[in-house]
This record gives sequence, C-alpha cells and structure tokens, in this order.
Amino acid sequence: MLNPMASGKLDGLHALITGGGTGIGAAAAEALGGAGAKLSLLGRRMEPLAAVAERTGGRPIQCDVTNRDAIAKVFDEARAANGPIDLMIVNAGIAESAPFHKMTRDSWDRIIATNLTAAFDCSQLAIGDLLKSDNGRLIYVASVASLRGVPYAAHYGASKHGLLGLMRSLAAEYAKTGLTVNAVCPGYVDTPMTDQSIARVSQITGRSDDDSRAAITNINASGRLVDPAGIAAMILTLCLPQSRDINGAAVTIDGGTSA
Ligand code: NDP
Repeated sequence: MLNPMASGKLDGLHALITGGGTGIGAAAAEALGGAGAKLSLLGRRMEPLAAVAERTGGRPIQCDVTNRDAIAKVFDEARAANGPIDLMIVNAGIAESAPFHKMTRDSWDRIIATNLTAAFDCSQLAIGDLLKSDNGRLIYVASVASLRGVPYAAHYGASKHGLLGLMRSLAAEYAKTGLTVNAVCPGYVDTPMTDQSIARVSQITGRSDDDSRAAITNINASGRLVDPAGIAAMILTLCLPQSRDINGAAVTIDGGTSA
C-alpha cells in the first residue's frame, strides 16, 4: 500500500516486523516499506516471508520468537544489513481455543511464550537501538481481547491483556525520551489467523465454513472483517515523525464493536 501522504517519511529508518510474512505483518511491511523504511521481516516459515520481501524490498529472516537466543542472533544480522532498529513492530502471535476446564498447561505456555514473553524479549533486545533513534517507535499488535474477556480463550485474553500492561509501563518509563510505545487493538481481521478460527468453529460445531465465517464476521459490529491494510495504516501513522506525542495509546480498530 503506497500512501502518498507518507511517501518518503520513513526514508532511512529500519523497521523490524515480527510475523512479517502474513496477515497484519505483511500489510505493515507494505505500508512501512511504501513510506521508505528498510524492512527486516521475521517469522518461522521462509516461504511467505520471502514473498513479502520480494514485493517490498525487505529482508526475510527465519526466527522463532519464542527463542531469545535466536532473536538476539537475528537482530544482530538485521542490524548488520539495515542499521540499528528504529521501528519495532511486535506482531507475531498465535491463537488457540478451549473451554477453561479443558485448557492444557501446554497450550497456556505456548500462547504466553509467543504472544507475551516474546514481546518482552523483542522489546528488550531492541530497546538500546530504539532509545538512540531520532524516531524510535515500539508498536504492539494487541487485540480487542486486550480490553475485555474472551470466552474459550482465557490464555489468549491473558496474553493480550499482558501486552497492554507491558506497553503502558514502557510508555510511562520512557515518556521523557524520543521513543513512543503504543498498541493497536484489532477486532476480527481478514487474515490466516481468522481463517483458522473459522475452521475451528466448523470443526467444533459441525457448521459449514460459510456459516462459521458469517458467525465470526458478525461479531464485528460492522458486519465485515477488518481489512489488514487498515491496521497497517494505523501502524504507519504511529511511526510517522509527527506522531511523536502519541504515547501509551491502545488504538481500537474493530469496526465499532467497542463503541
Ligand atoms: P497470521 O497468522 O497471519 O500472523 C501471525 C504471524 O506470526 C505469522 O506470520 C506467523 O508466521 C508469526 N508467528 C507465529 N508464531 C511465531 C513464532 N513463534 N516465531 C515467529 N513468528 C511467529 O495472523 P494475523 O496477521 O491476524 O496476526 C498478527 C497479530 O494480530 C497476532 O499477534 C494476532 O494475535 C493479532 N490479532 C489478530 C486478529 C485477527 O482477527 N486476525 C485480531 C486481533 C489481533 P510463522 O507461522 O511463519 O512463524
């Protein structure tokens, strides 16, 4: 997505996006790349990363963000190619569902490790660079599940609430610096994660995929899935130099569900 208002505004800045190969991360890559940022795109699967990298001129980097040593290593590789990190987009995440009484400890650990502990690791391993940048930005892709309870996904809800706690604490801690720390909180977005949620609903309820898609889509007050490009547009806005006073914000993008 090329935004003429933002064209060239991020020239020379290094944006590192976790989960940059699909969905919201891929859309963010298009938006930030379109504004001139140099891109490092992290994920476990090389194929989708390479496809986005080819479209955006980014650098695909294979990394499992639940492994802190691996993150430290690839951040160094990314710095060697693109310079210190200016824009850190913590987007990688996974979702699972289960009634609470059947939720396994393994599933809890997986969700917390990917959605919350990895956010801590990525933030801490980038913070030195971000504080030295003239345009340091730390942005978390949280969720409406950061703002209210989620039946059948207590682990996901807890991880996303935790992400906002981390965001707000860092925004307060670094308020006097040039770094801003913010979050976007999407409702259901048209991405592979939502496709998987739809498939799970069909599997559990026996409904057709079309019926399950309609049920999930209608949870958004708009009656449509959020366009990942809209989330990316907000991430881009938060990255622009003129957004330097937006700090500690959790921006809801859910088609009006939380109104
Ligand atoms: P996707 O499934 O398309 O994106 C998730 C990305 O995270 C994938 O690219 C995946 O790549 C990457 N990822 C997952 N686990 C790891 C890991 N251990 N290490 C490195 N990368 C990992 O879905 P979305 O774009 O929707 O999700 C992006 C974010 O948006 C998530 O944090 C999600 O919770 C959040 N969100 C999504 C909503 C929705 O309705 N879809 C609503 C609200 C928030 P790979 O598998 O190759 O590692």
